[in-house]
Amino acid sequence: MSSVRTRFAPSPTGFLHVGGVRTAFYNYLFAQHHGGTFILRLEDTDRERFVPEGVGQIVEALDWLGLEPNEGFWISQGQHKNIEYIQSERQKTGLYQKVAEQLVEQGLAYYSYVTPERYQEYKQDAAHQPFVYRKSMEAEFHDGKSPGPEGEYPIRLDVEAIRTEFHHLADNGVAWHDEIRGDFVDNLSLIEDFILIKSDGFPTYNFANVVDDHEMQISHVIRGDEFISSTSKHVLLYELFGWQAPKFVHLPPINGLDGKKLSKRTGDTNTLEYRDKGYLPEALLNFLVLLGWNDGSTQEVFSQQELIDKFSLDRLNTSPAVFDPKRLDWMNGSYIRELSIDALYKKVADFWPDEAQAADDAYKKQVLGLVQERLKYFSELPELTRFFFVDLPVDDSLISEHKQLKKLSSGELRDLLEKAKASLEASSFTTDDLTQKLNDLLEQTGQKPAVLFSLIRIATTQAPASPALADSLAALGKDRSLSRIETQLKHLG
Ligand code: GLU
Repeated sequence: MSSVRTRFAPSPTGFLHVGGVRTAFYNYLFAQHHGGTFILRLEDTDRERFVPEGVGQIVEALDWLGLEPNEGFWISQGQHKNIEYIQSERQKTGLYQKVAEQLVEQGLAYYSYVTPERYQEYKQDAAHQPFVYRKSMEAEFHDGKSPGPEGEYPIRLDVEAIRTEFHHLADNGVAWHDEIRGDFVDNLSLIEDFILIKSDGFPTYNFANVVDDHEMQISHVIRGDEFISSTSKHVLLYELFGWQAPKFVHLPPINGLDGKKLSKRTGDTNTLEYRDKGYLPEALLNFLVLLGWNDGSTQEVFSQQELIDKFSLDRLNTSPAVFDPKRLDWMNGSYIRELSIDALYKKVADFWPDEAQAADDAYKKQVLGLVQERLKYFSELPELTRFFFVDLPVDDSLISEHKQLKKLSSGELRDLLEKAKASLEASSFTTDDLTQKLNDLLEQTGQKPAVLFSLIRIATTQAPASPALADSLAALGKDRSLSRIETQLKHLG
């Protein structure tokens, strides 16, 4: 059994964003690659920013993506809520308090008199710039009450005490290594007396994160680069406890096409919105894995097993990745094109337009086969296929805004359509015969396809785009095609 143990440790302060999914996936792949364990831990000790529906959404998204942990607060088989991996539940056992009090007893941490509000005021005071909070400042806040567990006082680390007791830290600073970014070191003077246990009794992220990574024997911490600045605090705690620190990997940031941090507008939406728009989870993961990693070749589409086989930390980048929604659409489209019609048919079940309700399976599969090539995500299905199921009203703008057709008079348009009608009336309406008839018609009228076929397509679909004309007409059938041409003719007057 490999000793590789990774974890994804989301905080339910909102939705699971695509950046979080990428982090989860890298942790998942790395563990799988090494035959290790992937753990899912809920870091919910920030009660002010806690979003109740966040937890369910994280689980729903991971479930949809198939990123099931080996251990964690949710595993699909077995119990749904495993409180061992939920920090607010762990807090109730007194675990974090006990560990923090050990440091208090050792004289390396203290109950602080300063309330969060007073702390903020104090910090903003210009006289205290640059601001690094120290125990020596406590005197100003002493209210005469004795600090202690019942007194709602936070526990802070005492960095000055650490400086006198740990000479190597005083001399060399807190040093750590990032597996892809190299060495970091922070002088103790830059690390303030940060809080371990807050006044509400909950541990801070920094403290609980270290205690849990240690207890859960995490071997590799793979996370976003926004945590680089916190890592020296974590490493300091590992040093104080004499615990071996995990290996650290801080992933490259993901930017939008505008070069700025990914935002809602540039694609950073709730992951479940991708499900609801009809993206395939395997395509989304394949797209995300490439935002910061490659296998050294130009290959872009990977099966999940290939990714498990190939994933390694040394192929991770440090420079920002760019989230290009068009790239995602391309990736998703290529996964869609790989599916058999039967497989695709099952997956799009919820995405048909209402008008398709009465249609039978065979017809819907035929239609699906015609649009499969151009489908980027499933929620495009109604727009692409509605005309196969219902007569859409004549849309004048399709002709009046068409580059070539707008140049023709309605007399010319009528004349062309009449000829088309006559020719189609004589067709058996197989794709082959329709192709033949349409080509003959080009010769007969001396028109270009961009004119003649566009006109027939508009008349028979009333849609701005459609699959190949002969295929569409064959699917629509003779009666429906001809009656739509009739309607268009009447409309042309
Ligand atoms: N709870 C942190 C978050 O929500 C995770 C930090 C970490 O992975 O260490 O992003």
